[in-house]
Amino acid sequence: MSDTIFAPATAPGRAALAVVRLSGPGSGEALTALAGRLPSARRATVRPLRGPDGATIDEGVVLWFPAPASYTGEDCAEISIHGGPAVVDSLIEALASLGLRLADPGEFTRRAFQNGKLDLTQAEAVADLIDAETKAQAGQALAQLGGSLSRRYDAWREILIDALAVLEAAVDFPDEDLPEDVAARARPALERLLAELDGALLDQARGQRVREGFRVALIGAPNAGKSSLLNALAGRDAAIVTPTPGTTRDVIEVPLVLAGYRVLLADTAGVRDTDHDIEAEGVRRARAWAEAADLRLWVVDASASDGAWRFAEDLVQADDMLILNKADLPGGADAKVKALGHEALAVSVARDGAAEVRERLTKRVIAALSASEFPAATRLRHAGRLREARARVASAVNAREVELAAEDVRLAARALEQVTGRVDPEDVLDRVFSTFCIGK
Ligand code: GDP
Repeated sequence: MSDTIFAPATAPGRAALAVVRLSGPGSGEALTALAGRLPSARRATVRPLRGPDGATIDEGVVLWFPAPASYTGEDCAEISIHGGPAVVDSLIEALASLGLRLADPGEFTRRAFQNGKLDLTQAEAVADLIDAETKAQAGQALAQLGGSLSRRYDAWREILIDALAVLEAAVDFPDEDLPEDVAARARPALERLLAELDGALLDQARGQRVREGFRVALIGAPNAGKSSLLNALAGRDAAIVTPTPGTTRDVIEVPLVLAGYRVLLADTAGVRDTDHDIEAEGVRRARAWAEAADLRLWVVDASASDGAWRFAEDLVQADDMLILNKADLPGGADAKVKALGHEALAVSVARDGAAEVRERLTKRVIAALSASEFPAATRLRHAGRLREARARVASAVNAREVELAAEDVRLAARALEQVTGRVDPEDVLDRVFSTFCIGK
């Protein structure tokens, strides 16, 4: 049996209210010790609160959630008190002296998972919702908490369990009265699933981009206007702009919010030729960042006629955007660069041209991240398991022996189960017998 834990659920510091949460078998006893007696279940009740030494802590609102109808599935309580640090400290001291333990990070949600209140993707969504800075992040986390991801993985898993039932019947009961092509019967469903997993994999980056940010690299020659553009774009979105420098040689990412999506903008000024060892490492990182970005804005000084515009050209990819900056100056490079065929925008950042860039960029972000269907992966963990499941299903479809196909399908199901955190092999046996009525 688990012990009883407690933790402040609200941020530390001075506030109107603070909420302290309890979970575990000793919650009721602790609440009784503090508040005199247990309130009715799930009813907000005002009570004077006293510590074990009899000293008054505060008057607060107490809530009692007997198991299993609680967040963690255990007996839980919530105590709302005035949010002054001294008041919160006295409550925490009182709970500790009653023998309760301060919870580890995420321990309430972990218990909720262990007690089947949430699956793993929903538990992850709780963390995402708390961390969400943009509407899109919060929307995605809420949908995931509501089970959007679980439902998809469970539906895929169902298909696999059905196929496995067919295949295992063919393996385990070869002499029974089963149709000869029993294994072939599993194939169409597996092929359809394979196509679906392929589609999901194509889309797998989207969920992660919503969660972590759509990465945009500014590349181009020194003096092309990259910093000016970055500052102009960031200035408009100063609400959550907090540059996160690593070392001075690291890439600096500036978070922006465009159409409710988180965008990470980086000036990869570090991309330049150098002989210096440490600087070379910085260049390597800047290049890697630019290469892995979802979009590169190639900033070119349109007035440069000296070939400088070619700088960083090797990093530019087919769908990238070309910003022909300094349109206010007499032209030099623009015709040559336009001939390369990228989506081009002639602007003058110095004369408010960043607004146009922002508009285009917003369209690109919306096109890349918005879709009616919930993404199949919002974390690397999901994408990894998804790829594994896809590989196993492909192998099952091509397997020459039914035993091998069954093993692949089993492993594919296991990979999907790892995403939702569920493992229950009993299901497979249940289906073998219910689908074929063998052994009756
Ligand atoms: P970076 O080296 O690519 O980051 O370029 P900067 O943003 O530092 O800009 C280099 C120089 O170009 C600065 O003196 C800017 O003021 C100037 N500059 C930037 N944008 C424009 C523009 O649209 N027109 C003109 N005429 N000058 C610009």
